[in-house]
Amino acid sequence: MPYPFRWTPGEGERHATGQVASRAGIPAGTRVRTLCGTEVVAAEGDLVHLWPACPRCAWETSNFDKAHNSLDTINRTLLGLQESTGD
Ligand SMILES: [Zn+2]
Repeated sequence: MPYPFRWTPGEGERHATGQVASRAGIPAGTRVRTLCGTEVVAAEGDLVHLWPACPRCAWETSNFDKAHNSLDTINRTLLGLQESTGD
């Protein structure tokens, strides 16, 4: 299951966005609404992956990770219960 966000470089930092994009990603020059609540113009280049992650976006995505992991645990628990009813 894909995470509901992607990272995009913009204005000196890498931000996370929930904006829908094509497989190829967000084209440079696109205005992107970010998880930290701002808007940046997407950038591209050889070094953009070296830009620091926006701390606020990192925090927001770590919450997504936590939610995702806890859902995973619930799903596994439910599956385990279903399996154990077989015998
Ligand atoms: Zn951000």
